[in-house]
Amino acid sequence: MLVVGGGFAGMSALPVLARSDARVTLVDRNVYSTFQPLLYQVATAGLTSSDVAYPLWSATGRRGARFRKAEIVGLDLSRRVAMLDTGEEISYDYLIIATGVSAAFFGVTGAAEHSLSLYTRRDAITLRNQLMDALETRNEGLTDPELDVTIVGGGATGVELAGTLAEMRNVALPAVFPQVDRSMFRVRLIEMGPVLLAPYHDQLRRYTRQQLIDRGVEVLLNTAIKEVRPGSVLLADESEHRSDITVWAAGVAGPDAGWTSGLPRGKGGRIQVNADLQVTGQDRVFATGDVAICEHEPIAQLAQPAIQEGRHAAEQVVRRLTGQPTRPFHYHDKGTMATIGRRSAVVELRGGLRLRGTIAWFAWLGLHLVYLLGNRNRVVTLVNLAWRYLTWSRGGGVIVGDDVPEKR
Ligand SMILES: Cc1cc2nc3c(=O)[nH]c(=O)nc-3n(C[C@H](O)[C@H](O)[C@H](O)COP(=O)(O)OP(=O)(O)OC[C@H]3O[C@@H](n4cnc5c(N)ncnc54)[C@H](O)[C@@H]3O)c2cc1C
Repeated sequence: MLVVGGGFAGMSALPVLARSDARVTLVDRNVYSTFQPLLYQVATAGLTSSDVAYPLWSATGRRGARFRKAEIVGLDLSRRVAMLDTGEEISYDYLIIATGVSAAFFGVTGAAEHSLSLYTRRDAITLRNQLMDALETRNEGLTDPELDVTIVGGGATGVELAGTLAEMRNVALPAVFPQVDRSMFRVRLIEMGPVLLAPYHDQLRRYTRQQLIDRGVEVLLNTAIKEVRPGSVLLADESEHRSDITVWAAGVAGPDAGWTSGLPRGKGGRIQVNADLQVTGQDRVFATGDVAICEHEPIAQLAQPAIQEGRHAAEQVVRRLTGQPTRPFHYHDKGTMATIGRRSAVVELRGGLRLRGTIAWFAWLGLHLVYLLGNRNRVVTLVNLAWRYLTWSRGGGVIVGDDVPEKR
């Protein structure tokens, strides 16, 4: 049994597969599993990069699987063999693909070259380093005092990043970088559609927009980006806006053709699956989590769906091994949440219950701590976030110092 990808989906498949007698191997290109929902805190210097990473060697061992650190680079579906970048080949009886997604630039000129994404630990470190460098050089008077940060995409990532950056500027900056002129540090959030947080109830969307505006974020709705240039963004109406740092948080794409070229693709290049999560047209290959798309029943690309899909795919493999037919996947929606800043979040629960403000923020904090893998990460994250929000104005909430990004 081979599982590729040690994120929410891949990791939740392991305990189920452990119930069978089969030998299970998990392959991931990193030696750790990344907790993406808190990457924006790493990018804004509230958490260290190790707080959101959990070692896969020990985590897979405890779940009865062995681990290979490698990138999958090829698949021979007829021989049932996966090729790794280490040159090794791994054969499988059943394969579960759980490799997540990356940024989709929708063909916007310069977007891939001149903007930063936020999908990996490396992305978060790169963004944090650019941000800290920009603030440091302005603090020392070494460069033009103006600093414009543009975030493209008004989904949860864009909202969380814009809100936290604005709060950092408003509250923490005077203590950490006293020479930086706050009035010259601008945070802009650009969304092509008419609303922020489109999947949420209109009341929560309006609350989110107002909270961002209150924090001094310039929110541009119904605004398309035509081009990202070094140092600026060009909008569809041909107006050009200075942008020292541009973050692209506006869409997701499946894996590059390469190793998945033999598999059917749906919207955004994600892998097309049937209702039971088996890859369409394939007998022994399942795809789960963000990378999978079932066009009959689209499911949000969030942690809970990925966890439930990972478990379901593994259960179907076990059913097949015991001669039973597979079952369709049904998502049990437990609700969604997004945070805007300190004591400000939105929560939408099943049954229409909606929360916002402080209570929603504590719910967001609690849930993220529960879902983080590893007790050390939970304790350290709780301490770092508590420290951040209790000591913002004294500069305590900004972790300074360089972190060198890894190769990938
Ligand atoms: C910035 C950000 C914030 C988010 N915030 C929230 C939130 O608040 N709430 C929420 O519910 N969801 C949130 N999400 C979405 C959530 O994180 C994803 O839906 C979830 O991580 C998907 O899980 P996954 O297992 O499918 O993929 P991932 O978690 O992305 O895991 C994929 C794994 O596959 C590995 N991999 C990829 N390609 C290869 C390869 N070729 N070979 C080997 N290994 C490979 C990667 O290293 C990775 O470990 C957020 C996502 C982002 C990016």
